[in-house]
Amino acid sequence: MSQCIFCSIVNGAIPSNKIFESDEMIAIHDIHPVAPVHFLLIPKLHISSMLDVKDEHHELLGKILVKAPSLAKGLGLSDGFRTVINTGASHGQSVFHLHVHIIGNPSQDGLKAGIDQL
Ligand code: 5GP
Ligand code: ZN
Repeated sequence: MSQCIFCSIVNGAIPSNKIFESDEMIAIHDIHPVAPVHFLLIPKLHISSMLDVKDEHHELLGKILVKAPSLAKGLGLSDGFRTVINTGASHGQSVFHLHVHIIGNPSQDGLKAGIDQL
Protein backbone atom coordinates (compact mmCIF):
# COMPACT_ATOMS: atom_id res chain seq x y z
CA MET A 1 0.00 0.00 0.00
CA SER A 2 1.45 3.39 -0.95
CA GLN A 3 1.97 5.96 1.79
CA CYS A 4 2.29 3.24 4.44
CA ILE A 5 5.57 3.62 6.31
CA PHE A 6 5.83 -0.07 7.22
CA CYS A 7 5.09 -1.17 3.62
CA SER A 8 7.93 1.17 2.60
CA ILE A 9 10.21 -0.47 5.17
CA VAL A 10 9.14 -3.94 3.96
CA ASN A 11 9.94 -3.08 0.33
CA GLY A 12 13.21 -1.37 1.25
CA ALA A 13 12.25 2.17 0.24
CA ILE A 14 12.80 3.32 3.83
CA PRO A 15 15.83 1.91 5.68
CA SER A 16 15.42 0.11 8.97
CA ASN A 17 17.51 -1.68 11.54
CA LYS A 18 16.43 -5.23 10.72
CA ILE A 19 16.65 -8.12 13.15
CA PHE A 20 14.95 -10.83 11.11
CA GLU A 21 13.25 -11.31 7.76
CA SER A 22 11.29 -14.13 6.17
CA ASP A 23 8.90 -14.33 3.22
CA GLU A 24 6.06 -13.30 5.50
CA MET A 25 7.42 -10.93 8.15
CA ILE A 26 10.18 -8.61 9.26
CA ALA A 27 11.40 -7.70 12.72
CA ILE A 28 12.97 -4.26 13.20
CA HIS A 29 14.20 -2.20 16.09
CA ASP A 30 11.71 0.54 17.00
CA ILE A 31 13.02 3.97 16.00
CA HIS A 32 11.90 5.41 19.37
CA PRO A 33 12.52 2.64 21.90
CA VAL A 34 10.70 2.91 25.22
CA ALA A 35 12.89 0.27 26.87
CA PRO A 36 16.42 -1.13 26.43
CA VAL A 37 14.99 -3.65 23.94
CA HIS A 38 12.04 -2.58 21.80
CA PHE A 39 11.41 -4.20 18.46
CA LEU A 40 8.48 -4.63 16.11
CA LEU A 41 7.25 -7.75 14.34
CA ILE A 42 5.56 -6.72 11.12
CA PRO A 43 3.73 -8.92 8.61
CA LYS A 44 4.77 -8.10 5.04
CA LEU A 45 1.09 -8.24 4.11
CA HIS A 46 -0.58 -4.87 4.71
CA ILE A 47 -3.27 -5.35 7.35
CA SER A 48 -4.27 -1.96 8.77
CA SER A 49 -4.99 -3.09 12.31
CA MET A 50 -6.39 -5.90 14.42
CA LEU A 51 -9.82 -4.58 13.47
CA ASP A 52 -9.15 -5.86 9.95
CA VAL A 53 -7.91 -9.32 10.90
CA LYS A 54 -9.74 -12.15 9.15
CA ASP A 55 -9.73 -15.95 9.34
CA GLU A 56 -7.31 -16.06 6.40
CA HIS A 57 -4.67 -14.33 8.58
CA HIS A 58 -4.76 -17.09 11.19
CA GLU A 59 -1.54 -18.82 10.12
CA LEU A 60 0.40 -15.60 9.47
CA LEU A 61 -0.41 -14.12 12.87
CA GLY A 62 0.38 -17.43 14.54
CA LYS A 63 3.80 -17.51 12.89
CA ILE A 64 4.52 -13.97 14.06
CA LEU A 65 3.69 -14.77 17.67
CA VAL A 66 5.68 -18.00 17.54
CA LYS A 67 8.71 -16.09 16.22
CA ALA A 68 8.63 -13.52 19.03
CA PRO A 69 10.25 -15.48 21.87
CA SER A 70 13.27 -16.68 19.91
CA LEU A 71 14.01 -13.16 18.68
CA ALA A 72 13.46 -11.77 22.19
CA LYS A 73 15.80 -14.35 23.71
CA GLY A 74 18.37 -13.51 21.05
CA LEU A 75 18.30 -9.91 22.30
CA GLY A 76 18.79 -10.93 25.91
CA LEU A 77 15.17 -11.15 27.04
CA SER A 78 15.36 -14.70 28.39
CA ASP A 79 13.70 -13.56 31.62
CA GLY A 80 10.59 -12.22 29.88
CA PHE A 81 9.18 -9.38 27.84
CA ARG A 82 6.00 -7.43 27.18
CA THR A 83 3.95 -7.93 24.01
CA VAL A 84 1.71 -5.08 22.85
CA ILE A 85 -0.56 -4.58 19.86
CA ASN A 86 -2.18 -1.15 19.79
CA THR A 87 -5.42 -1.12 17.82
CA GLY A 88 -7.03 2.10 16.63
CA ALA A 89 -5.91 5.70 17.15
CA SER A 90 -8.08 5.88 20.25
CA HIS A 91 -6.04 3.03 21.75
CA GLY A 92 -2.54 4.19 20.91
CA GLN A 93 -2.02 2.99 17.34
CA SER A 94 0.00 5.48 15.28
CA VAL A 95 1.12 3.36 12.31
CA PHE A 96 -1.79 1.72 10.53
CA HIS A 97 -0.05 -1.44 9.41
CA LEU A 98 -0.51 -4.14 12.01
CA HIS A 99 2.57 -4.77 14.17
CA VAL A 100 3.49 -6.40 17.43
CA HIS A 101 5.69 -4.53 19.91
CA ILE A 102 8.14 -6.59 21.93
CA ILE A 103 9.61 -4.58 24.76
CA GLY A 104 11.83 -5.57 27.61
CA ASN A 105 14.88 -5.08 29.73
CA PRO A 106 17.59 -7.73 29.71
CA SER A 107 18.70 -6.75 33.22
CA GLN A 108 17.15 -8.27 36.32
CA ASP A 109 15.18 -5.07 36.88
CA GLY A 110 12.59 -5.99 34.30
CA LEU A 111 10.49 -3.15 33.01
CA LYS A 112 10.08 -0.13 35.25
CA ALA A 113 8.20 1.74 32.56
CA GLY A 114 7.16 1.23 29.03
CA ILE A 115 3.56 0.53 28.33
CA ASP A 116 2.37 4.04 29.18
CA GLN A 117 4.62 5.45 26.48
CA LEU A 118 3.26 3.14 23.81
P1 5GP B 1 2.00 2.17 17.33
O1 5GP B 1 1.95 3.50 18.00
O2 5GP B 1 1.29 2.22 15.99
O3 5GP B 1 1.57 1.02 18.18
O4 5GP B 1 3.54 1.89 17.06
C1 5GP B 1 4.23 2.42 16.00
C2 5GP B 1 5.69 2.32 16.34
O5 5GP B 1 6.44 2.47 15.15
C3 5GP B 1 6.18 3.41 17.31
O6 5GP B 1 6.73 2.80 18.47
C4 5GP B 1 7.21 4.18 16.50
O7 5GP B 1 8.31 4.59 17.27
C5 5GP B 1 7.60 3.19 15.43
N1 5GP B 1 8.01 3.80 14.17
C6 5GP B 1 7.38 4.79 13.50
N2 5GP B 1 8.04 5.08 12.37
C7 5GP B 1 9.11 4.24 12.32
C8 5GP B 1 10.17 4.08 11.39
O8 5GP B 1 10.28 4.75 10.36
N3 5GP B 1 11.09 3.12 11.67
C9 5GP B 1 11.02 2.34 12.79
N4 5GP B 1 11.97 1.42 12.98
N5 5GP B 1 10.02 2.48 13.70
C10 5GP B 1 9.09 3.43 13.46
ZN1 ZN C 1 1.47 -1.22 5.06
